[in-house]
Amino acid sequence: MSEKEEKIAIYPGSFDPVTKGHIDILERASKMFDKVIIAVLKNSSKKSFLPVKDRVELIKQSIKDIKNAEVAFFEGLTVEYARKTGAKFLIRGLRAVSDFEYEMQLSQANMSIAPDIGTVFLITKPKYNFISSGIVKELASYGEDVSKFVPESVVEYFKKQNKKGTI
Ligand code: ADP
Repeated sequence: MSEKEEKIAIYPGSFDPVTKGHIDILERASKMFDKVIIAVLKNSSKKSFLPVKDRVELIKQSIKDIKNAEVAFFEGLTVEYARKTGAKFLIRGLRAVSDFEYEMQLSQANMSIAPDIGTVFLITKPKYNFISSGIVKELASYGEDVSKFVPESVVEYFKKQNKKGTI
């Protein structure tokens, strides 16, 4: 009798930086799959706020309690990375109708080039609805307290960076 195939999902994004909204989606996805890999896009075209190495490290520190979650970075097409890891599913979070249009397009493009990989959408909890990495970046750059929006690792990171005057 063959062993049941492990259900692996990728949660791709920029995570620049990771927020409580992202972690909530990850926690819920981790209950649906055997393994969830947060895949941090090392994007060459989109200028990132934090270096990919720091984005990965901050996630690593925030997901210690989620036993079946891992973090890694990738370059190139998400579906190619998914195939490399054996994942058959992509996880995406939806906050508002404005997310929906872009996410639907992306998902249908992926469907067309990789019919073997599906996208699962999870709707954000209302309390995380307005949280985005962009808003966090803006607030942090003015030295504002962002502890309501991001995990502790990110709060500490910004504190250190602010002391160095690099944000
Ligand atoms: P990308 O650059 O791919 O949009 P992000 O890091 O901004 O990457 O987001 C990754 C995924 O997490 C996306 O599906 C996005 O819609 C979702 N997401 C972002 N913020 C939240 C939030 N506050 N609640 C739920 N999902 C979110």
